Amino acid sequence: MKAVVTGGAGFIGSHLVEGLITRGFEVHIIDNLSSGKLENVPSHVHTHVLDIRSKEAKELILQIKPDVVFHLAAQADVTTSITNTIDDASINIDGTINILDACKEAGVKKFIFASTSAVYGDIQKDLISEDDLTNPISYYGHSKLTAEKYIQLYNQYHQLSYTILRYGNVYGPRQVAKGEGGVIAIYIEGLGNKNPLKVYGDGEQTRDFIHVLDVVQANLASIEKGNQEIIHVSTGQRTSINQIIQILKQLHDQGVSPVYYDAKPGDIKHSCLSNEKAKCMLNAAPLYNIQDGLRHTYLSEITNN
Ligand code: NAD
Repeated sequence: MKAVVTGGAGFIGSHLVEGLITRGFEVHIIDNLSSGKLENVPSHVHTHVLDIRSKEAKELILQIKPDVVFHLAAQADVTTSITNTIDDASINIDGTINILDACKEAGVKKFIFASTSAVYGDIQKDLISEDDLTNPISYYGHSKLTAEKYIQLYNQYHQLSYTILRYGNVYGPRQVAKGEGGVIAIYIEGLGNKNPLKVYGDGEQTRDFIHVLDVVQANLASIEKGNQEIIHVSTGQRTSINQIIQILKQLHDQGVSPVYYDAKPGDIKHSCLSNEKAKCMLNAAPLYNIQDGLRHTYLSEITNN
């Protein structure tokens, strides 16, 4: 079986590539290395340094004729989507359409998309389900939601089979320590550099932190399951920033000192995604709770540095 992973040199994509290789897939990566790195990619994988919006990327997919395409390449930063809105829309919408069109022409059997909880905006619900109203409050959430709609219409008009996976806050080894989603990577890097851990607000804000290997598991399950569905990839558990710091204190015996700043304007207080649909349709329950996942990430990153 052949798979194309767009964004395969990035944080999540590179772990997915490893999972596909373990399963015996011939894997091709399309990545322009804007945030991804070649060092993330196993040496025997076919890496094509191309922009997902390019004619060359489309032609490559037509040439490879993959069975499955995992579309992860994206402008994935909320703040950048506000400062560079045109690029965000161009990469996340035009880029997705270019890859969809290639999949349609190449007769791809399954298209699996990396979407986000940002499509819900500030929904103010304890546990969000896939049927809840989408109301993005960032251009990033909006461009991802628009891409979802194109995917659904490509199925309607061209029978391209898909699964849309909406991820919670993904963490794990190789995550770049930046951006609003990268708090765990920022903290672990901060511990290595003996920097204090910055907390914006009282630290009681919560997120649904999901380990990257659980995201890989859900993507692999989607090859055969979850056709024409939108499915959360999440733990269904809230974890606060203060709880993350507590766990890191237990792991790091050289002192962990949080410093509290004013909350960032527009920061969502709580976000937690139900994972009942993933358990039922993908048979994919998370293997890592936050303690085990943080220990795995901490040990991997500290050993690598
Ligand atoms: P990442 O930045 O590490 O990976 C994105 C990859 O896409 C990078 O390798 C980058 O070089 C590549 N890329 C960007 N623009 C491109 C273009 N125009 N052409 C070709 N390649 C391009 O980010 P990540 O955290 O691994 O995110 C992967 C996907 O998961 C994204 O679609 C993101 O929106 C989604 N997602 C991530 C999270 C999270 O918590 N990390 C949460 C929800 C959804």
